[in-house]
This record gives sequence, structure tokens and C-alpha cells, in this order.
Amino acid sequence: MLESTLAAVVGREQVLTDPAVLAGFETDWTGRFRGRARLVVRPADAGEVAGVLRACHDARIPVVPQGGNTGLVGGGVPRDGEVVLSLARLDTLGPVDPVAAQVTVGAGATLAAVHRHVAAAGLEFGVDLAARDSATIGGMVSTNAGGLRVPRWGSMRAQVAGLAAVLADGRVISRLAGLPKDSTGYDLTGTLVGSEGTLAVVTAVRLRLVPATRRWTTATIAVADIVAAQRVLTAARVEVPGLTSAEVFYDDGLRLVCEHRGIAPPFPTAYPVYLLLDCAGDADPLISVLAGSAEVLDSAIAVDEPARRALWAHREGHTEAVNALGVPLKLDVGVPAAAVAAFERELRSLVAPARLVLFGHLAEGNFHANVIGAEDPEELTGAVLRAVAAHGGTISAEHGVGTAKARWLPLVRSPVELSLMAETKRAWDPGGLLNPGVLLQR
Ligand SMILES: Cc1cc2nc3c(=O)[nH]c(=O)nc-3n(C[C@H](O)[C@H](O)[C@H](O)COP(=O)(O)OP(=O)(O)OC[C@H]3O[C@@H](n4cnc5c(N)ncnc54)[C@H](O)[C@@H]3O)c2cc1C
Repeated sequence: MLESTLAAVVGREQVLTDPAVLAGFETDWTGRFRGRARLVVRPADAGEVAGVLRACHDARIPVVPQGGNTGLVGGGVPRDGEVVLSLARLDTLGPVDPVAAQVTVGAGATLAAVHRHVAAAGLEFGVDLAARDSATIGGMVSTNAGGLRVPRWGSMRAQVAGLAAVLADGRVISRLAGLPKDSTGYDLTGTLVGSEGTLAVVTAVRLRLVPATRRWTTATIAVADIVAAQRVLTAARVEVPGLTSAEVFYDDGLRLVCEHRGIAPPFPTAYPVYLLLDCAGDADPLISVLAGSAEVLDSAIAVDEPARRALWAHREGHTEAVNALGVPLKLDVGVPAAAVAAFERELRSLVAPARLVLFGHLAEGNFHANVIGAEDPEELTGAVLRAVAAHGGTISAEHGVGTAKARWLPLVRSPVELSLMAETKRAWDPGGLLNPGVLLQR
């Protein structure tokens, strides 16, 4: 019996079967995706993960790996009676290696814990996102998470110097040396980045670190439209060497956040579009961009922490404020910079008359379209994703494909690519036991 075999591996109290306890693992952050778990198992280390996977493999029971359960595409919650493998207890934080500027952490370590841990060594981790208190490094590697600092440091893929993982049958791979150079064939670490728990379970990650930024400047800039926002961004790309974030949001989203959080907007007057720029260093380069741009209708600059946090709250509050309206349809999409304005127009006309709350990462052409009250969410998803593909974009810029978008993958991946992906899946997980139905359709 699987339950007692697993109890022998992890201890009885780490095999959860009480329906009231399972509920939290069975529903995603948005409340849109939910399913039934056979049980939840919470191993403490990589050896126990291997034992769990071996037992599930022998019993032919599918497994859904779960980190912080902040994913937004349904990839980390069960569908139909799988075992949920929670990595939350693998939260070790290894010593910072200051010479290599790297650190090895457990897959279950939260992003916030990693930020705190490496700060003590005068270093920083280059990825940040609003779900930092719950999102885990293993989940972020598995979704190739992006977040708020991609213009400067890149996505998760750029931060991973190595990892350790367990295959579906319990075999282990460990590539944690963090070698900056290594020309020994296929990049297994890179293959697992963005694989959404379909190829192996990540147990530890060797992360690259960056020098700590001692001085930050943040500006919220009001502009007339997305084209004006792109012009200001273009100037900032040239003038601001430490440009770290370029976030965009709109007045209806700002009002929603201010109401939800009970905070004041950045300006007494309402403007159509807001661009939030964050840069390392002092305010001078940003001020020269603002002074030299005819597009700027208004601006607020902050250099001290409380004032910077106040400006960031307008952008970071969007996801939770949208969720408070009800279960949203969330579409994380990206288009090339040249297509941003045309895509934004098309998106608005596709979504109307439903309510659209739009925000995103302007520097990457990455929009988060949140739709409330869509009459037929699946039909709207298809229409929006087809528009994205027609503009040469991606149907998932940073959240992953999950179950939400698996059927739409052929819009952006060719038949040759899809068959290589299916063969890759078979090579790593011949029994199809890891996260079935996620990323690739069954
Ligand atoms: C408020 C909010 C803001 C967000 N902002 C951003 C943002 O700016 N940028 C962004 O990219 N994302 C963002 N997200 C989405 C989410 O935080 C990321 O997708 C994150 O990477 C998920 O991490 P997690 O630990 O919660 O993973 P989970 O949700 O638990 O899992 C996500 C996927 O990874 C798999 N997985 C988890 N752990 C492992 C493991 N150890 N081994 C193998 N597979 C595993 C799961 O099976 C699932 O497919 C946000 C979410 C919220 C709620």
C-alpha cells in the first residue's frame, strides 16, 4: 500500500491525507485550478525525495511536484488523484561562496529567504517578484520565472549555475559544482529550467549572485499611452546604465490597487498610463531622462526605502487586487517590442465588453492580461493567444504553460519542436508519471 511505503520513507506525519489539510494543496493561488490529490507527501531531503519517487514509480502512481503553490497556470496542483510531492521542507541555505559569487540552496527555499541570506555577504540574487514570501527556488527554476529585474539580470535561466534533481524512477543527477565553464555536451541543467516538473524533481539549485545594489532610485512616470511609455523606456535604455525594472500599468488598475490596499495614488491627477522605472545608483540619470522627454506628463521620484516601497506598491498590488474581484482569467503573454502598441489595441478589443486589468513588464513586451467576467474564457483565451502568435510573440512569457495553455502550445511551437519535446519527455520519464498533462497534452 503506497501510503505505508511512503510513511516508511518520510515518517507518518509527513504523509497527509486529511481532506481539510489537502484542500490547501489542491487549489491554486487564483482559485481557478483545483483537483483531487491521493495524498500529499512532504520529504525532508533529496534522499527522501528519491525514496518517494521510487515508491510512486513502482506503484505507477503519477506525481505532481509542488513548491510554494504560487504558480498561475495550474501546473502545481493535482488534476485527478495524483500524489502531490511538496518540496517545501527542502529549504536549506548553504554558505555563500563569495569567490564564485554563488550559493547552493534547497528547492524549497523561498525567494525572500534567499534574498535575506545572501544580503549578509554583500551580494544579491538577481531575480525578484511579488510572490517572494512563498515562491520557491525550485518552482522558479521549473517555470523559468522572470519578474521585476529582467532588464538588468535576466530570467531564472540566467541565474542557474547548476542543480540537483531526482528522476521519476528515483535515480539522481547532481550538477552542483557551479563551474562557470563546462563544454561536456548536453546541458541537462538547462533542460530542466522551464520544464515545469515534467522531466525530474529539482532538489537543490546552485545560484549565481550579483553585487548588492547600495543605492536605488525609483520613478513613476505618467504618460499618454503605451507608445509614449516605450519612448521614455528607449531614452532610459541609453541614459540609465543601471536600469533594472521597467513596469507598466494603467489608471483603472491603479485605482483598483489603491482601493484594495487603502493607499494613495502617486499623483492627485489621473493619467492614462504609468511607467515605473527602477535603477541602481543615484537619481541623476533618471532625472535627465525625465527632463529631456516631451512624453512625460508627470513624475514622482523616490530614493529612500519607504518612498520607493510606496511607488512599488502601486505596481505590486495588482495581482492580489485583481484576485479580490473574483477568479480571473490570467494570460501572461509577450510580444516583440515593435508589436506592443498594436497588440495592446487588439487585446482591448478582443476582451471587451469583459473587464480587462492590464499590467506588465514593458521592457520585455510582457503583458499580464487579467480578465474578469469573460463570457467564454476558453474561447477568449484562444482568440488572445492566436493574436499573440500572429504578432510573433509567446503564449507564456514567464508563468509557464501548465495545464492552462497546453492545448495552445502548437501556436508557438512547430510540429518538429513538439515531437522533440515529446521525445525528451519520454527519455526522462518513460512512464509519463511526472506532472502528466502539464506543458504537453496527454
Ligand atoms: C502575487 C504573485 C506575483 C507573481 N509575480 C510573478 C512575476 O513577476 N514573474 C513570474 O515569473 N512569476 C510570477 N508569479 C508566478 C509564480 O510566483 C512563479 O511561477 C513561481 O516561479 C512559482 O513558484 P512556486 O514555488 O510557487 O511553484 P509552484 O506554483 O508550486 O509550481 C510551479 C510549477 O513548478 C513545478 N515545480 C515546483 N517545484 C518544483 C521542483 N522542486 N521540481 C520540479 N518541479 C517543480 C510545479 O509542478 C509546477 O508545474 C507571481 C505569482 C503571484 C501569486
